[in-house]
Amino acid sequence: MSDHAFATRAIHAGQDPDPRTGAIIPPIYQASTHVQDGIGGFREGYEYNRAGNPTRSSLETQLAALDGGASALSFASGLAAEDALLRGILKPGDHILLGNDVYGGTYRLLTKVLSKWGIETTTVELSDVDALRAAIRPETKVVWLETPSNPLLKVVDIALISEVAHAAGATVVVDNTFASPALQQPLALGADAVVYSTTKYLGGHSDVLGGAVVFQDDRFFDDVKFQQFAVGAVSAPLDAWLTTRGIKTLALRMRQHSENAQAIAEWASARPEFTQVYYPGLETHPGHAIAAKQMSGFGGMLSLGLADGADAARAFAESTSLFQLAESLGGVESLIGYPPDMTHASVRGTELAVPENIVRLSVGVEDVRDLIADLQEGLERSSR
Ligand code: PLP
Repeated sequence: MSDHAFATRAIHAGQDPDPRTGAIIPPIYQASTHVQDGIGGFREGYEYNRAGNPTRSSLETQLAALDGGASALSFASGLAAEDALLRGILKPGDHILLGNDVYGGTYRLLTKVLSKWGIETTTVELSDVDALRAAIRPETKVVWLETPSNPLLKVVDIALISEVAHAAGATVVVDNTFASPALQQPLALGADAVVYSTTKYLGGHSDVLGGAVVFQDDRFFDDVKFQQFAVGAVSAPLDAWLTTRGIKTLALRMRQHSENAQAIAEWASARPEFTQVYYPGLETHPGHAIAAKQMSGFGGMLSLGLADGADAARAFAESTSLFQLAESLGGVESLIGYPPDMTHASVRGTELAVPENIVRLSVGVEDVRDLIADLQEGLERSSR
């Protein structure tokens, strides 16, 4: 599969027809355990669902192929994937450097959960390479970045950060949830591992919670797989199957998400109600040149800063109708959120606090004319 283009790999990797019946779609192996041919006689290595499941395996093969990785593991959520990866590769006393605009749940996992087990976290502005160099300590084991970031769509240079981190002996992890592997390939740019909330673009239909880690090589696989097996936050067979189905249209969907978001960003840039438009596809975005270099499209996420402040942002988020007010992102339907009270409530008052005047849009694949009309009506309704 590795010599095929992305859209082909997305449809075929790990998706061989059922050898027994020829069913073109691999079945959902909805089973907790597998019959053994004598004690320890596992058929194709399968024993018990927490250790391995054929539907999960087909998703993991597909995930590894999407990112050009050596292997992948699939989890019950994005945070479960992050947790297993970090506990697999870190030990008490280790330090992790975190980009200063990341998903609030990642910051919470590190500072409220893993901190109790002796992992220290500090944040850094990753667009400033000197600041990164200065922040790296002898005990820094991981540099963790998210690009474009949630919710401010900051873009940082994956290749450059990987070079600096590797020179200091640190491992680079990229949360590629916003871009998806269709638009950005962190392993090819030098990262060691990629994490996803597959709940978002990979699943793509807002009907499944999941997460994944994709590995550049074999160094960390056994330790992270052991965490997955020992703790058990695996994806369920139906969830894994739904994700494999979502992935097959990822390339198509990301093209439309990007086209719609670009049109909305350009429309918003001309509206006096918005003082900031955070979208890497705009030439005015500070990370535009880096995004153009390392991404093949700018994605479906954007944030807007309301000129009239927090109350205007809240009112606007409650005034649209096609853009439905909800947590999450990356589905075919458009969503709007108010990050300070929703996705990023857990970082309010911390160094990762986000501006109070922003709304975040997950631009879906509806007709963009309807989406712009909806935003326009939302503005009118919320200013009445
Ligand atoms: N990473 C990013 C960028 C996210 O937006 C999210 C969820 O919103 C996560 C990780 C966590 O994923 P999950 O909600 O599937 O645990």
